[in-house]
Amino acid sequence: MLVEILVKKVTTGKPKPADDRLGFGINFTDHMFVMDYNTEAGWHNPRIEPYGPLSLDPSTMVFHYGQAIFEGIKAYRRVDGRIGIFRPRDYIARMNRSADRLCIPPVDETLVLKALKELIRLEQDWVPRSKETSLYIRPFIIATDPFLGVRPSFTYKFMIILSPVGAYYPEGFNAVKIMVTDQYVRAVRGGLGHVKTPGNYAASLKAAEEAKKQKYTQVLWLDGVELKYIEEVGTMNIFFVIDGEVVTPPLEGSILGGMTRDSVLTVTREWGLRVSERRLSIDEVVAAADAGRLQEIFGTGTAAVISPVNELKYKDKIIVPGDGQVGPLSHKLYDYITGLQYGTQPDKYGWVEYID
Ligand SMILES: *Cc1c(COP(=O)(O)O)cnc(C)c1O
Repeated sequence: MLVEILVKKVTTGKPKPADDRLGFGINFTDHMFVMDYNTEAGWHNPRIEPYGPLSLDPSTMVFHYGQAIFEGIKAYRRVDGRIGIFRPRDYIARMNRSADRLCIPPVDETLVLKALKELIRLEQDWVPRSKETSLYIRPFIIATDPFLGVRPSFTYKFMIILSPVGAYYPEGFNAVKIMVTDQYVRAVRGGLGHVKTPGNYAASLKAAEEAKKQKYTQVLWLDGVELKYIEEVGTMNIFFVIDGEVVTPPLEGSILGGMTRDSVLTVTREWGLRVSERRLSIDEVVAAADAGRLQEIFGTGTAAVISPVNELKYKDKIIVPGDGQVGPLSHKLYDYITGLQYGTQPDKYGWVEYID
């Protein structure tokens, strides 16, 4: 079915920040995509309109009960000058899986992809040009019934906003220090851990603040039942290289199935490495480090792509992989995957969707 997307443009756009001052998630483009849902019409009135505040009743359900989901996607200005979105169909499909868990009606994936391309085409001057900059794409859905009481909403708003973002590693590819918490948990199997929903982030804040006080950038979560098995880093999935085996925890419902995780698994298997999605206890990691067999640790996520970890703190133990420098696999994966994104590597997996 062909659905028209109405476009209402701004008369004058905002000034664009310089590429070296972009930061992350601070600046937003001139337009946004919006679509509404109600039970009679389903998803309807898809439109692109000037970026601006929403007016919502204070009783709007999302404020009180957190029925909401989101995605995080990136578009890149490629070396040939074209703009490519990385794996958008896969991210949109994941959004519908999140929708299902939160009792939110699914969106038409073809329409959303079309809307996303149209929005980026309109905003193409906002896609930054400097090395390692990109356009961050944030689709999200919120429950909009003005109602106090716990049930799925009858009305929703779907939106896409765009934010030009700076280089994640302006001072070069560098490593982070992470604290393993044995005090808080983020998710349990059967809960919302595998879903991109704001509540997971609300659950993570306190542990993250406490880690920051000790100069750790993020928290590594253990499983919510035994506090024994490695889960993820909250905004990133986590990989370990032990004796040449690339290990990441399996998707059993309590961690998010990251797209970057999937890209890394696909690529490392293609490279012929020994790759396992298996349970990995923190004790196994400690033992491997003690025996000198822990070669690398890195996180994966859309924002940083690959985030090498040069220190894990667990209880009073400090775990350092390899020689404490960024490991060779982390480097190779970062170079290769960003190469696919910026077009210095051929798109052999068909992961890039062009806007023109
Ligand atoms: C988004 C997210 C990730 C990373 O997923 P990508 O698809 O690679 O960006 C990891 N963990 C959580 C909890 C997330 O929300």
